[in-house]
Amino acid sequence: MNDEATEKTHTLDDLGKCEFAPNPLAVLGHPVEHSISPAMHNAALDRLRERDTRFRGWAYYRFDVPPDELERALSLFHKHSFMGLNLTVPHKVEAMEWVKGMAPVAKQMGAVNTLVWDEFGYDGFNTDGYGIKRALEVDLAVSLKGADVILIGAGGAARAAAVQCMLDGCSRLRVGNRTVGRMEGLLQVLQEMPEGERVEGFSLDHPPDDLKAEGVLINATSLGLQPGDPKPFDARLLPGGWKVFDMIYNPPMTPLLQEAASRGLAVANGLSMLVHQGARSLEIWSRETVDERAMMTAACHALHLPPRYD
Ligand code: NAP
Repeated sequence: MNDEATEKTHTLDDLGKCEFAPNPLAVLGHPVEHSISPAMHNAALDRLRERDTRFRGWAYYRFDVPPDELERALSLFHKHSFMGLNLTVPHKVEAMEWVKGMAPVAKQMGAVNTLVWDEFGYDGFNTDGYGIKRALEVDLAVSLKGADVILIGAGGAARAAAVQCMLDGCSRLRVGNRTVGRMEGLLQVLQEMPEGERVEGFSLDHPPDDLKAEGVLINATSLGLQPGDPKPFDARLLPGGWKVFDMIYNPPMTPLLQEAASRGLAVANGLSMLVHQGARSLEIWSRETVDERAMMTAACHALHLPPRYD
């Protein structure tokens, strides 16, 4: 595959000008230069090619698509037979308007991050919830079934996490967010789901103090991305059996994770979530089992982190 083309950040103008692989995939975002999805997916495609020549013509690209260009972009990608698309910030919600069908989970999560081509258009899926669920299992040995969960945030990623918690049968889900109206909107969605009485909101000024001995705290806010950000939650309030998951992966140790780790709590960042949601997307497109380890190795390399697996 042409490495230069898969490493470059393309624009829509390139669709008519550049030559792409016969079976192209892409991530669309704005900004998107930072996305390590091409590195992860092309590493996994290399592994698929080793066992099946069907994947010889597959390659994954990165496109910068401004929000006001999304509708035109999807029509162009469809015309150019891009078989699968990933959507990242800010397209996951807007794209729902332009897909012809949506998986029920994507509807519940109110966002699509994976589109699948057929001759009539794109269908939308959401693999973020799966990514969170697998990351919790793999990195923290947490099963959402029966778990006591505190979720901070009420944006797109929080909604995916919250819906996944409900679908997997968490015992209790408490949600806190800076903007109360946004939190209330999320609570309404969750409380309409089966067993919705397990969900409640809380004020970040008065965090829950009736915690069980074990549980998991999930940070789904962007607090921790920038140096000097305050912590989204005071990890000193958590009993010793709690585990802390931060969706942020760059930096790999946010102040929240540092504080929790210094207290001896098990912690994990969002890299595994990124890898697992990506692997699930590629499984949907390829209908094959995907090598998640190859994706993780490529992700660590792209972020200049030590490899996770030897
Ligand atoms: P989003 O829809 O924009 O939501 C942002 C969330 O962060 C909201 O709850 C927002 O609260 C909160 N927030 C932002 N600035 C804040 C501040 N200064 N103080 C308190 N709260 C603040 O974004 P998203 O897509 O949900 O992403 C949330 C985080 O998850 C980001 O860090 C993103 O990088 C990460 N993420 C990771 C993965 C992964 O694969 N690891 C995937 C998706 C997202 P308000 O409602 O009050 O604004």
